[in-house]
Amino acid sequence: MSITQNINKIKEELPQKVKLVAVSKFKPEAAILEAYNGGQRVFGENRVQELVAKYQSLPKDIEWHLIGHLQSNKVKYIVPFVHLIHSVDSFKLLEAIDKEAIKFKRVVDCLLEVHIAEEDAKFGFSENEIIEMLESVEFKELRNIRICGVMGMATFTDNERQIRKEFLHLSAIFNSIKNKYFNQSSAFCEISIGMSGDYKLAIECGSTIVRIGTTIFGERD
Ligand SMILES: *Cc1c(COP(=O)(O)O)cnc(C)c1O
Repeated sequence: MSITQNINKIKEELPQKVKLVAVSKFKPEAAILEAYNGGQRVFGENRVQELVAKYQSLPKDIEWHLIGHLQSNKVKYIVPFVHLIHSVDSFKLLEAIDKEAIKFKRVVDCLLEVHIAEEDAKFGFSENEIIEMLESVEFKELRNIRICGVMGMATFTDNERQIRKEFLHLSAIFNSIKNKYFNQSSAFCEISIGMSGDYKLAIECGSTIVRIGTTIFGERD
């Protein structure tokens, strides 16, 4: 099947309110253009350098999402154009985004990445770290970032029960944070969970954004 056929097939399965981020990391611009010509406008990358290069040479109405770990010193390269940063995993990073956003007179939309997997290697806040941050004076002073929800990655396993448990845990964290801190914010509405192997499960668990690469573009080298 072609890239566009793959996208259309996934879209048929997605509830209308769930957004599809086509994860194009490591894939050539020609592959992105093929998806673009089929109507896809939302793409995700996990490395700053690759994201910037693709932004510069591809059509300007693409909505670019950063989904991978971001270092504070690289924030300045993406702040001018990025649509949503999924992977905010520290207050220091949020401060750096705010600082650059002020320079560019933008408000940058961000998700808080939560560590829900069993593995140590994955990035992200714990629920307590998020609460501590949200209650801090320093956080309340940030004006040029907008928190739009949470993002998570489940443990790399075939065990569906485990994945479901982790996704539901993130959904519960989202709800409790929403109730306590973002009741007045209609922007705080996103739960970014679900990849090629687990997006159907993620949707059952409340996903509003799925990030799908392999099922659209094929295996990466
Ligand atoms: C690569 C990546 C994806 C997409 O993974 P697939 O299994 O290829 O669909 C989703 N989210 C993040 C954070 C990624 O790095």
